Amino acid sequence: MRPSIFAPDFKEAPYWWEAADPAQASPPETPAVPEKTDVAIVGGGYAGLSCALELARRNISCAVFDAEAIGYGASSRNAGMVSGGINVGKGIDITATYGADRAKAMIDEAGQAYGHMEQILEREGIDARYQRFGRFVGAHSRQQFGMLERRAAWLAETSGQSVEVIPEPRQREEIGTDFYRGGIVVNRAGGLHPALYVRGLAEAASRAGARLIGHTRVEAISGAQGRFLLATPRGNVEAREVMIATNGYTGQVTPWIRRRLIPVASFIVATEELPEKVAAELIPKKRVIADTKRILYYFRLSPDGRRLLFGGRARFSQVGAKTSAPILHRFMTTVFPQLAETKLTHAWTGNVAFAFDFMPHLGMNDGMHYAVACNGSGVIMQSWLGHQVALKIAGGTNRASAFDGLGFPTRPLYSGRPWFLPAVGAWYRLRDRVDRWLD
Ligand SMILES: Cc1cc2nc3c(=O)[nH]c(=O)nc-3n(C[C@H](O)[C@H](O)[C@H](O)COP(=O)(O)OP(=O)(O)OC[C@H]3O[C@@H](n4cnc5c(N)ncnc54)[C@H](O)[C@@H]3O)c2cc1C
Repeated sequence: MRPSIFAPDFKEAPYWWEAADPAQASPPETPAVPEKTDVAIVGGGYAGLSCALELARRNISCAVFDAEAIGYGASSRNAGMVSGGINVGKGIDITATYGADRAKAMIDEAGQAYGHMEQILEREGIDARYQRFGRFVGAHSRQQFGMLERRAAWLAETSGQSVEVIPEPRQREEIGTDFYRGGIVVNRAGGLHPALYVRGLAEAASRAGARLIGHTRVEAISGAQGRFLLATPRGNVEAREVMIATNGYTGQVTPWIRRRLIPVASFIVATEELPEKVAAELIPKKRVIADTKRILYYFRLSPDGRRLLFGGRARFSQVGAKTSAPILHRFMTTVFPQLAETKLTHAWTGNVAFAFDFMPHLGMNDGMHYAVACNGSGVIMQSWLGHQVALKIAGGTNRASAFDGLGFPTRPLYSGRPWFLPAVGAWYRLRDRVDRWLD
């Protein structure tokens, strides 16, 4: 019999919740729903809380509603990998789509968003164990290595970012595997503890005067800009403005947005503590790591450097963490065969939201603001877009965000239930295999 991959203390819960469980952070009593507020924000993750923090600092009253505990969504579940620009418009040529000027404005803004996150951590005294170690992106094939080289040159030219090309013979300087065909290192990148970050944002927003109302689902929104009415099971609230920040958890309350988002489950596992020598061999420079596969792997060491956290799309349907864990263990040992005997202590899942054009979206519909579509990378971007919505509401900026009003496509007959994902997943998996066969 094969030995179990599960440690005796295995949990189907995020590793991050050991230090910052969103349910523990909520005050014992959920605040009452106010009769009136200037701005009602639906969704208490990075986007909603960043919006609330900036509004409250400007003395604009706001209430953040979350159906679960504040921070319960992707914001306390992700891998905490951050970078400023490499992920904008994943897989599409934004210069060809939006023109050179707008593409440059987007990349510049992604860089600004990175700096903004660093400033917020410092200004608000949030100890989210942030470290700027850089990011290694591994090429899954020689052809993709060429694509990464071109991307590195483009990023360096457009934004002045320092991006280093690592050919295959030097790969072991970055990562203890021969799985990739070389890669690039993006220096403006690093990792943080996502659950401590979202808790820190919540505390900062609350200190500034925002009202955070967990365990209160917004069930319906009526009215128009100037006078909206939001219905919740704990009472109704009247709001001048509404901001939707529900991303991969968007439901029927906002059908127009739901029809434009594809919710996709992403899965992560955490290993037991590794011997120091093994951890140092896996990722010697402690960089955060992703690759070029269509069904990508992403991984990093925990902030204390003792565990490997390994993530990917184990399935293209919603399955429990106990089902996804063996698949991720297999992916992990494909990259790092030396971890074959290593056991898992945690496995969990959360939802990301893709847009049909793979771009982040900030804008307005039916008089309501929204900041959604993280496309799998939203620690920095969703925080930034939430902040941008606050500036828009407050009239605090002269310059529109480069991500504002891009046009937000949907597809005929699509209602928000992505029935096609398993088929798309199988097709992507096949194409990833073909890339290696042709290599
Ligand atoms: C497993 C995983 C790994 C990831 N790894 C990374 C990474 O390494 N780097 C990176 O940059 N990004 C990563 N991401 C993406 C990142 O986590 C998200 O982009 C980001 O957290 C989204 O923040 P948000 O505030 O928009 O949404 P969320 O944090 O998802 O918050 C949305 C909230 O809306 C609430 N809600 C929904 N409907 C209602 C309603 N009707 N009423 C009230 N509340 C409602 C939900 O309960 C939820 O809490 C990952 C995501 C996942 C799931």
